[in-house]
Amino acid sequence: MKAKIEVLKADITTLEVDAIVNAANSSLLGGGGVDGAIHRAGGPAILDACRDIRAKQGGCSTGEAVITTAGNLPAQYVIHTVGPVWNGGDHLEAKLLANCYTNSLKLAEEKGLKSVAFPNISTGVYKYPKAPASAIALITTRKFLQTASSIESVVFVCFDQLNYDLYWKALN
Ligand code: ADP
Repeated sequence: MKAKIEVLKADITTLEVDAIVNAANSSLLGGGGVDGAIHRAGGPAILDACRDIRAKQGGCSTGEAVITTAGNLPAQYVIHTVGPVWNGGDHLEAKLLANCYTNSLKLAEEKGLKSVAFPNISTGVYKYPKAPASAIALITTRKFLQTASSIESVVFVCFDQLNYDLYWKALN
């Protein structure tokens, strides 16, 4: 099946999709940016679920992903993935960022989900340059969707104009 890829300028917490992806940190205990917004809007059930995962596996490594309830959000699930901190580009940042997209989409497929929304992982506090980050997000997602079966739609949710322009240009 050919899934569609879209770009939206929005607050990801408002989206009625099967799963929204969180740009989490390895503690899974919440933080600023999109992580803070998701925990605030979704309520304590998300943090409870993250604590359970921590108790079992001790957090989440960079490039990996875990899935929890979405609490009070309109989405059904939150997929928490940990993006790389930009450190000049010679520290496997590109590979680790690609892993975030692949591992998040793998979890969505395992759950049989149809719609997934991504924020622009690592491009906030973690300072990944936005243009290469958007190229990695799109190339990795397109590649994954070639062999996906449940996913029908992936939305890239941009919060700032530069990210929106980058995705819009690449997709239009
Ligand atoms: P990271 O630590 O991975 O850089 P941030 O949360 O700081 O994570 O930023 C990731 C991206 O999420 C940034 O592009 C930021 O503008 C965006 N962002 C922040 N809040 C929201 C939100 N409510 N919905 C969607 N995107 C958001």
